[in-house]
Amino acid sequence: NSKELEKILFSMDGKSYSAYKSLKGEYKFEKYILAIDHVQSDPYAPPSKMRVIMDRKICGIPYELTDTKDKNIAVSDFLTRNFYREIQKSRNDSIGTGGSGRIFIDRCGQEILERTSVLIKGDKVEVRFEMGMPARGRRIMGKAAQKIIFEQLPKIVEKSIIYENLNKMALKEQVILVLDQEYIRKILKERGLVAFVANGSVLPRESGISDRPMKNAVKFKSPEKFEITLKLPSGKEISGMGIPKGITLIVGGGYHGKSTLLAALERGVYNHIAQDGREFIISELDAVKIRAEDGRNVEKVNISGFINNLPQNKDTRAFSTENASGSTSQAANVAEALEYGTSLLLIDEDTSATNFMIRDGRMQKLVAKEKEPITPFIDRVKELYDNFGVSTILIVGGSGDYFDVANHVIMMDEYVPKDVTEKAKEIVKLDENKREFSPNDKFQEVTQRIPLKKSFSQFGKLDKTKAKGKYSILYGKELIDISGLEQLVDDSQTNCIAVMIDYFKNKVLDEKLTLSQAADRIYEKIEKDGLDSISSYTGHPGNLALPRKQEFCAAVNRYRKLKIK
Ligand code: ADP
Ligand code: MG
Repeated sequence: NSKELEKILFSMDGKSYSAYKSLKGEYKFEKYILAIDHVQSDPYAPPSKMRVIMDRKICGIPYELTDTKDKNIAVSDFLTRNFYREIQKSRNDSIGTGGSGRIFIDRCGQEILERTSVLIKGDKVEVRFEMGMPARGRRIMGKAAQKIIFEQLPKIVEKSIIYENLNKMALKEQVILVLDQEYIRKILKERGLVAFVANGSVLPRESGISDRPMKNAVKFKSPEKFEITLKLPSGKEISGMGIPKGITLIVGGGYHGKSTLLAALERGVYNHIAQDGREFIISELDAVKIRAEDGRNVEKVNISGFINNLPQNKDTRAFSTENASGSTSQAANVAEALEYGTSLLLIDEDTSATNFMIRDGRMQKLVAKEKEPITPFIDRVKELYDNFGVSTILIVGGSGDYFDVANHVIMMDEYVPKDVTEKAKEIVKLDENKREFSPNDKFQEVTQRIPLKKSFSQFGKLDKTKAKGKYSILYGKELIDISGLEQLVDDSQTNCIAVMIDYFKNKVLDEKLTLSQAADRIYEKIEKDGLDSISSYTGHPGNLALPRKQEFCAAVNRYRKLKIK
């Protein structure tokens, strides 16, 4: 029990660091069990992993706040933020060598994600955190360790986990908020919508490096034509812009807020915390941002819907390259998104290849169709919707050609959206110099690809995956660059993708499953046994946040040694 732990810590004072190893085990404290799962090998190594395991009875959080998955995620998120805040409030600088005496827990951003940092399951609440076991040089600071574990930690736990001490109102509100957000996302389809942006939302962020809301921003106000009112489960009524299925064009002068609107829709696949400004900006869960990503690796992707007749007769139904161009990378990104499944594509001119997006009448006249490998997106966007049910919201500020195919045209005017559909359609009627609608061929079927096991078995002892920040994963000696994934929002999602890739190659791949099916297997496993269950961490897996299937598959596709059957 804890008395023994205290004695041991005192007796360790001044001993060599490796003696800490013997602390591994579980200790009974007054209100919880402290599990020391993994002890670091030196003061500079990643901190030691621990858990506080508490009975629900002692914790006191009512069961009705956690009796569905969405509620559970909302409460876990709330407790993680609390714990993080209490750590920051208590003294948390290094008291010796390396990270001595510091406590860490996963840091949550503006999104509310499914995480492993706090697990609420059955009649237990478990907090997974890390601690730098204190030392001066390689000498154990036993008294300091005692102080942290017996004074500082219990205070943090008391204030951040015990229901009596929580801001009960805020906790309840967060649960209600998540339920409202999930409700909106669920009824989008019923209403024939792909996204919703509530009036009063704050779209722009504080800065390029801060995801907090901009102060004094122009609040969102829906054009009348798109305004709908929703009654939420909480009883609240909320009005805003419902973006219908089909093809929606966002136009407007430079700097009038087009990209900001699209970025908010990209993030609308996630739920956001109160005061974020985007709480009620909700998009289809499977919406995918499509961008050009030149230089990326492409492995046997069917891009023939967009690119054909390449020089030297290169086959574009199973197109491979180690260095894709702007247009081929964007075509591959669309084709892959269709493979994993999506109902909404989001495209911004700022990050698109022009020749992928448009080809105007004059150019059509000059360059014969047979000499141009690219069928631009403008000639496929309608087919994508008609044949595959995939809607598109896209920004094109520099060309009116899309007026032909758009169902709706929204103009951003000093950050305020206006409906200009009628005007755009009129301009189309009057225009004499029209482009030719090109394809008489049909958009080919989506081709599912089967990844081969041998793609992953070439690193021997180095056969490990590890996240390096948010935008790269190291697998063996291969760096997987995922910086093109704009809808990845959290370092812990990248950690999770690393763990998932490991699980994917060891437990799922079988030369029969397509990438999409294999990914589904992993998500089924997580759904059934929890996010913990796919991890092979030493100690607890406290730093995982669930990414979407779209980001997981996209990461696999960016692995340069991927081989396809
Ligand atoms: P566009 O894509 O139309 O060129 P952006 O979306 O990039 O324009 O926005 C231009 C600038 O305006 C950005 O710095 C952005 O932060 C700011 N901005 C966007 N929306 C708002 C708003 N509603 N209120 C205040 N500033 C905004
Ligand atoms: Mg822009």
